[in-house]
Amino acid sequence: MEFDLIDAIRARVAIARDDVALGIGDDAALTGIAPGQQLVACVDTLVAGVHFPRDTAPEDIGWKSLAVNLSDLAAMGAVPTWALLALTLPEADALFVESFAAGFSALARAHEVALIGGDTTQGPLSITVTALGMVPTGEALTRAGARVDDAVFVTGTLGDAAGALRLHQEAGSRGHGTEVQRPSTTTLSSRLNRPEPRIAAGLALRGIANACIDISDGLLADLGHVCTASGVGAELEVETLPISPALAAAFDPAACRELALAGGDDYELCFTVARAREAEVQAALARAGCHATRIGRIVAGSGVRVLGVHGSEVVMPQAGWEHFSR
Ligand code: ADP
Ligand code: MG
Repeated sequence: MEFDLIDAIRARVAIARDDVALGIGDDAALTGIAPGQQLVACVDTLVAGVHFPRDTAPEDIGWKSLAVNLSDLAAMGAVPTWALLALTLPEADALFVESFAAGFSALARAHEVALIGGDTTQGPLSITVTALGMVPTGEALTRAGARVDDAVFVTGTLGDAAGALRLHQEAGSRGHGTEVQRPSTTTLSSRLNRPEPRIAAGLALRGIANACIDISDGLLADLGHVCTASGVGAELEVETLPISPALAAAFDPAACRELALAGGDDYELCFTVARAREAEVQAALARAGCHATRIGRIVAGSGVRVLGVHGSEVVMPQAGWEHFSR
């Protein structure tokens, strides 16, 4: 079974790169690395029913399994180059594999990422993608460089994917799997199923941002990682959080805020930059076709505080928030 499936994947994700000396087919792949570059490597697993709803379309699973990894490379300021795909399937389902590969390939092509190997095994549906990329030596963005008084920015909008997941779960529990989708619901669903890794933004931020992370587990959690790694704290102004029109149409303001702060799967970049360089950031991002919003600042101390309009701390109703378990 295995070989037909591997051929099906190979046929659909055939992206040629000059730096691949030996791709799929041997025991391991061989690639070249340009002088003056560091190899950037990351891996993420998606388990059905844990990291995506079981009824997610195979194309979307393929796209997302690569997207979550390219998002990690984006956060490092890396150019993605190659990927490896470990696929665990309940059965040798050629239709699933073809659709999965089509979704994977659509994103791989968009970023010229070559699939150079993988593994195919039988078991509960789970996908592990290793993504590799390059960054000029010493120029990678990390979590550890935030400084007191830096401005905190986030690309795009927050909470859309978590909003889509909540609507999906509510529809499921009402037994309305086939109900008519409103335009805002479709927009939110595409944010959940087809996240766009912010590669161009990550490249634009090299040499400008002091620290950067991609938001996969929610803004509060991920900005918290930056704070821990950098030995600082952060203050967020809740009124400045970028909320999309689609999210605002589907949820009340309090729910939007909660989804933006604590919902997962955003795959936006959160970064910090010296205040004197804020204008430079906006100009560099605009050239890269991206947008970022200033949402707070780095302070001395530790942890992330959320401030309301008058500067008073907002207590988050975290206890009532049901995160899609991961
Ligand atoms: P081995 O037993 O030596 O690990 P495999 O039979 O697992 O070899 O794989 C044969 C070739 O196919 C290898 O080059 C491997 O990288 C590639 N391959 C296997 N599964 C996948 C997959 N899901 N996606 C891409 N390449 C794969
Ligand atoms: Mg193998």
